[in-house]
Amino acid sequence: MSNATAPIKRFPISSLPLPPATHLVTHALHPDPATPSVSEFRNLLRSSPSTLRRSRILESSAHFTYVSPLPLPFPYQIKPEEGEKVEDQMAFVEKWLGDREALDEVPNVGGGKGNGHLKKLASKNREYYRELIGLSETGLRDCLPHLHVGDAFATLGTPTLAHEFDDEDIPTASDEEQAIRQELVDVLSGHSVLMTGQDTEDGVTAFGPWSLRYSGHQFGVWAGQLGDGRAISILSTPHPSDTELTYELQLKGAGRTPYSRSADGLAVLRSSIREFLCAEAMHALHIPTTRSLSLISLPHLQVLRERAEFSSVLTRVAPSFIRIGNFEAMNPPEGMMYLMMGGAGSGEQKSWEGLRVLGEWVAKRVLKLGGESDEPWGKKLVFEVARRNAKMVAGWQAYGFMHGVINTDNVSILGLTIDYGPFAFMDVFDPLHICNHSDDAGRYSYRAQPAMILYAAQALLNALAPLIGAEYASSPPSAVKSGWADGASREKIEQWTQKGKDEVEDELRRVVVDVCGEEYGRLMHKRLGLRRSDKSDEAEVSRPLLGLMEEHKLDFHGTFRKLCFFRPSWILPNNTTPTAPSDLDAYISALLSISPEADRMDKAKAAQDFKTWLTKYGNRVQSERDLWADGAEDEESVIQLREKEMKDANPRFVLRQWVLEEVIKKVERDAESGKRVLGKVLKMACSPYDPWGGEGDETTPNEELEPEIREERRFCGLGERKMIGFQCSCSS
Ligand code: AMP
Ligand code: MG
Repeated sequence: MSNATAPIKRFPISSLPLPPATHLVTHALHPDPATPSVSEFRNLLRSSPSTLRRSRILESSAHFTYVSPLPLPFPYQIKPEEGEKVEDQMAFVEKWLGDREALDEVPNVGGGKGNGHLKKLASKNREYYRELIGLSETGLRDCLPHLHVGDAFATLGTPTLAHEFDDEDIPTASDEEQAIRQELVDVLSGHSVLMTGQDTEDGVTAFGPWSLRYSGHQFGVWAGQLGDGRAISILSTPHPSDTELTYELQLKGAGRTPYSRSADGLAVLRSSIREFLCAEAMHALHIPTTRSLSLISLPHLQVLRERAEFSSVLTRVAPSFIRIGNFEAMNPPEGMMYLMMGGAGSGEQKSWEGLRVLGEWVAKRVLKLGGESDEPWGKKLVFEVARRNAKMVAGWQAYGFMHGVINTDNVSILGLTIDYGPFAFMDVFDPLHICNHSDDAGRYSYRAQPAMILYAAQALLNALAPLIGAEYASSPPSAVKSGWADGASREKIEQWTQKGKDEVEDELRRVVVDVCGEEYGRLMHKRLGLRRSDKSDEAEVSRPLLGLMEEHKLDFHGTFRKLCFFRPSWILPNNTTPTAPSDLDAYISALLSISPEADRMDKAKAAQDFKTWLTKYGNRVQSERDLWADGAEDEESVIQLREKEMKDANPRFVLRQWVLEEVIKKVERDAESGKRVLGKVLKMACSPYDPWGGEGDETTPNEELEPEIREERRFCGLGERKMIGFQCSCSS
């Protein structure tokens, strides 16, 4: 019997099933010697918690540190109580921190039973207000359909842009539903921590939260150890329909880790709102990305950036958060001088074993490359990571997404868009646009993005080259074994490195260029509503269109959306009349009017240019008419079909900078109403192709529209002129 319709059993967060030990990254990789196991980690939380909150350069082979969330203001305000005498300063610091660490077992929703494994820990000295302000239905549906969120959605209220909700009647949920939601908020805000009791219990997988150690090249310069400075993975759980697929839940902004350097480990609400919304928006555009689950505001916890801001904890979800920088940490480039904020500044060592262990895990469990156990995997791994990222960046280019900081530590091994910072979507098309306010040289400008992905892939190759060389040094080539580089001379390593590079380098460039080009072409064909793929299309159709957008300062997404409504019949000679404006003229005039520069452009030239282009495009569309109809269908149905397909590839709603800024302001001003606006914008971002704001009925004046529809229409627009091409700063 098929179980396709069987309901998925849902669990409160403390009862989510854990994956088997073989599927847990903390069991495969090397822990920080300070936290060699979950039980020793728990002892350390008691005996010397500052070890987890102090910035340290870790031993070379360590991949991660067990560390639990601790969202506290930083620098920590460690002060004795009135009249309290402090003899041993260090002991006082440890006690102060230890009192705040989540060490006390508290009953979970299942009355302590849960799945029998995870225990919930908290600290009675760390009580603070935590408010759920966002929960992603799509993130839940796709990654965690087995997570029970209780009455969380009800408490968020109805998503809306325009309504007043002082009088909204939210029905009271059952005690159980409320308790399930409260536990979810406790865990996802870093207030409560889930761990296993002991790692030795029968059948129990030792489990504790962790942060990854990585290094990286930032703006092309080696930056040494960075690591998850404010990201803590708190849970890993198999997807109910595919036990081979596990999802990690990661908190961003839940306090310091050994990788925080001099920073506070916290995230401002502003940047969390941006990531929360954009990850789901990207998914809706079919661009690979980490996903969003929840956003929790911590209003008691103010953080200082350019101004004092509220902090927040974002929960994001992905099968793995491993980056290219994790590989670079195992094989840092030599002879590099660098400054390390808050670090020891010591030179870093290489760890050949660490490299092998990480690589095997990524090849087998993360990328699932398959193959026999002694088959070489290094080369395959590099190509697979390159292919995935090339595909991803093609999506960025086709949809005008600019990441802003493509440092090698921000490039995912799975080819997911990760670490949303000063990102932006293109407004007026400008290939040289730089979205990151701090990127003076435009290293990460729109046009440079594919080249920067190639740079990151090459950094991965550089890290793995000696291992690949060693694999190919044997005949037939075979996977390296434990201790593969023990006693290898410097010359030997150099030889392997060269061999590894020779095996991969040229092809790597080709792979990135080809995969990116092919995917970009595929996506542009979809956006242009073309089913047949002609070699000349880029040179004759898509590039000239982008050139027109650039020259006449047209909005990138608005132009594509408008193109969905173009009819090729308008270019036929009998559609033009000498007196009345033709359909084509009217269409072009409407198209040009969506430019923010409409009143300043050379309208006559722009109109003529578009007429020429549309004529070419119209003919190109007509040339593949047979691909859209089998002859039985009438012209109108072909047109409708094409329009629908094009609309499904060209968003009506785009998460523009001005939209983000407005949502942020609203949430900062008043969380109660702000979270409803946030919820509605999330909805729009998750269904970006829908005709929001009564699209198609532009003749109804704004004043006559329902307030909600009117606001939707505004949110689909370009916003104020000063926000077009707005650059965001890095500080988050
Ligand atoms: P990003 O450019 O955001 O990817 O950050 C670079 C590195 O700095 C990463 O390793 C982050 O974990 C770390 N980092 C950024 N902001 C903070 C913060 N507020 N506290 C601690 N670490 C941070
Ligand atoms: Mg980062």
